[in-house]
Amino acid sequence: MPLPVPAVLALAGTVATVAWVRRRRASTLTPAQSDTSPSANGHTGASSGGGTWSKKPGSTFELAAHVVSFLDALVARSGLTLVVTDGSRTPRRQAEELLASLEQGVNVWGLYSQDDLVTEAMEGYPDLDAMEAILQSQVDRGLYLSDHMRGDAVDLRTRGLSADQVDLVMATAVELGAQALDEGDHVHVEDIPGGVA
Ligand SMILES: [Zn+2]
Repeated sequence: MPLPVPAVLALAGTVATVAWVRRRRASTLTPAQSDTSPSANGHTGASSGGGTWSKKPGSTFELAAHVVSFLDALVARSGLTLVVTDGSRTPRRQAEELLASLEQGVNVWGLYSQDDLVTEAMEGYPDLDAMEAILQSQVDRGLYLSDHMRGDAVDLRTRGLSADQVDLVMATAVELGAQALDEGDHVHVEDIPGGVA
């Protein structure tokens, strides 16, 4: 038999409050715990009023634990529903990105800040395996063509967001200690700090 409506509301309010308190305590007292709990496929934000995020359907990229925590905080604060279109890139995936950009006629030296690493990777062009091997050798030397390879960056789809919402995404990301760049069809967020909760 269903509970009368006021009882359901009272119960729901109690559960929401308890969940909120537990979340706060978990994040302030034992931040390491938040690194082990989340699935990397998408999350709701705060227990009330927050937005949600999800990976683009069919995508295979990974997200580091501190990036998952960052995304949780980003949607909780902004209240937005966000789609993550890219996260961590292996050398293989980065090589594929380079090739895709070149096919679209993009100046890849303009796309990435480290010209010398781009030039080196392009020595393998158009052989995907060769480009992957060069990018891997850079990682082995502690050099990263993009923050995506370091695991410190995500791309957030802008399609379906208003200009104000895109601004809000960027401002909130900066508030949380990251850097944000509007790259047209996505906002690129990098230098994502650990310990965001
Ligand atoms: Zn990006």
